[in-house]
Amino acid sequence: MTGTPTHCPYCALQCGMTLHKADAGTDAGAVRIEPRDDVPANRGGLCQKGWTAAELLTVPDRLTAPMMRCDRGAPLEPCTWDEALDRVTSEAARLRALHGADSVAVFGGGGLTNEKAYQLGKFARLALGTSQIDYNGRFCMSSAAAASGRAFGMDRGLPGPVTDLAASGAVLLAGGNPAETMPPFMRHLAQMRDAGGALIVVDPRRTATARQADLHLQPVPGTDIALANGLLHLALAEGLADEDYIAARTTGFDAVRTVANAYWPDRVERITGVPVPAMREAVRLLARAGRAHVLTARGAEQHARGTDMVGVFINLALVLGLPGREGSGYGCLTGQGNGQGGREHGQKADQLPGYRKIDDPAARAHVAAVWGVDPEVLPGPGRSAHELLSALGTAGGPRALLLFGSNPVVSAPRAAQVEERLDALDLLVVADFVPSETARRADVVLPTAQWAEESGTMTNLEGRVLRRRRAARPPAGVRTDLEIIGALAERLKAPGEWSTDPETVFGELRRASAGGVADYSGITYARIEAEGGVFWPCPSPDHPGTPRPYLDRFPTPDGRARFVPAEHHGPAEDVDEDHPLYLTTGRVLAQYQSGAQTRRVRALAEAAPGPFVELHPDLAERLGIEDGAEVRVESRRGAVTVRARLTDAIRSDTVFMPFHWAGDGRANLLTNPALDPVSRMPEFKVCAVRVGVSPF
Ligand code: SF4
Repeated sequence: MTGTPTHCPYCALQCGMTLHKADAGTDAGAVRIEPRDDVPANRGGLCQKGWTAAELLTVPDRLTAPMMRCDRGAPLEPCTWDEALDRVTSEAARLRALHGADSVAVFGGGGLTNEKAYQLGKFARLALGTSQIDYNGRFCMSSAAAASGRAFGMDRGLPGPVTDLAASGAVLLAGGNPAETMPPFMRHLAQMRDAGGALIVVDPRRTATARQADLHLQPVPGTDIALANGLLHLALAEGLADEDYIAARTTGFDAVRTVANAYWPDRVERITGVPVPAMREAVRLLARAGRAHVLTARGAEQHARGTDMVGVFINLALVLGLPGREGSGYGCLTGQGNGQGGREHGQKADQLPGYRKIDDPAARAHVAAVWGVDPEVLPGPGRSAHELLSALGTAGGPRALLLFGSNPVVSAPRAAQVEERLDALDLLVVADFVPSETARRADVVLPTAQWAEESGTMTNLEGRVLRRRRAARPPAGVRTDLEIIGALAERLKAPGEWSTDPETVFGELRRASAGGVADYSGITYARIEAEGGVFWPCPSPDHPGTPRPYLDRFPTPDGRARFVPAEHHGPAEDVDEDHPLYLTTGRVLAQYQSGAQTRRVRALAEAAPGPFVELHPDLAERLGIEDGAEVRVESRRGAVTVRARLTDAIRSDTVFMPFHWAGDGRANLLTNPALDPVSRMPEFKVCAVRVGVSPF
């Protein structure tokens, strides 16, 4: 048996694993997975998704030939690569000539390697000349990214190596459920608790993570700003603020103090439902811990005020003097496998590689020089993910969409509208390795290599750049995303180099990132290999990398972190007589994101076979609903019929649905696309619904 050390295909923890196969390099069969104990993130642990990941290599409906349909309504038929690529480029050229460059759009994914994310952004701007590119990471971590950038001048997952958590005295986790989404992460929190540290969880549900917490604050969905302001108020009232730190390392505190003063505990309890003693205990645990962390995840981020929500938790961390202190700080648990790297290299509508702003003249000049073009040819900012999807096929909107590594028919909010918009396009092109729900609607499907069949780098939730290694040969007939992008660029006669070799692309990415916020210029494949990963920023080959970025100063113009005040306003869509319950959405242990991969793995499909809605037994009794009954859940945007699951782990004013499944049980048929004004994040985490026995 031979073994290839690599990392898991799924989440942002990027657990290390070794793929053993009987005959390396011949086919995908007979692969055995073994967890690696040399990777700090998981140290010999994997979750059920990781243990069963090898099955992805042999899924029965694997795409192995390009497909096209001659017109809408006709079936997808196998074709040659030349036919498929010619169709894409000739149609793109026709639309550009008729409607301008922005008539062709690109949509990427937070699971793409750094090399692919970089090349896709360059492809959109250079080969297509379009401003219309964004990616599904906009739906994941964009509020945390915006809030971190605003406060610290930089956005990078955790404030230090994940192992710092074990030495923390207290961790407050707002809106995250790693016991289900990334179970090996819980080891670090368990170590902390074994050493006397406290875990505080903020979540409307008593999740698997909340059940392991020392303290669980269970607020009404959408009230986190009030809660965090209330915690701030108590910290100030009890003299727990770190005044020396605030004076030396921050700006803007007075405005935050003024706002926090109005969030007296009784008022916050009325808004959030969290008892005052629990709030008081949370603040004391954090303030007296010595080392402490404030962490957020999607529950605090996927809101129409998500940037402010995260921002107020950052304010709390700043008041307690945590960011920039070794072994302490604020951090975001990124979600998708390359959730961190995917947002750094130019897939976002408003950014260029190196996490540079696309409307910054110096950034444009730098990147244009690396690409060998005049800065004038680079388009400006485009539409954010939801705005882009909503504009497809409309007057003035894109007429064609090229989509890589994403399945918005399941994962985007207001999913029925997404389907309508995709069907209104002149051309939908999907590159994927399985026939996802979005691929099935495409005019052209391009079969890709996956995960263990190609090389590349990923940046995990710590900001550590890791190597994914090729461990199996892809099936005949498929191409890597880099090969597809290169072939399209060549046909479009795009300027610049379009290497299909990941290490060569990484070399160009390093040059493009040099001097930017996310500076990878000192990172090489050889260094990652030798050092087991390198933390960015790493501006030169002799730089050690930056595991803890804010120890001396924050990368803001004056070197100080910025407080930004925010007031509670409640969710964009509140409950009323017609829709009296809050719906919140999330994940379950055995599925991942839109489920396009995990629904195809036998053990995972058996463990979590289909959609459901969680209700409190008191609510169920009031509505006459029994456990397991078919119920209808309706919002102002759609309705689903799913099985009821009764649990006292949820508030009786709130119901919960996971979002991994396709078809009529999709949670995203219901969700509200109200957008955060800064991050453009839709409000996945709360909307108003009614629930009843099906049919009503
Ligand atoms: Fe894979 Fe995430 Fe599970 Fe680790 S926690 S095995 S990275 S899905």
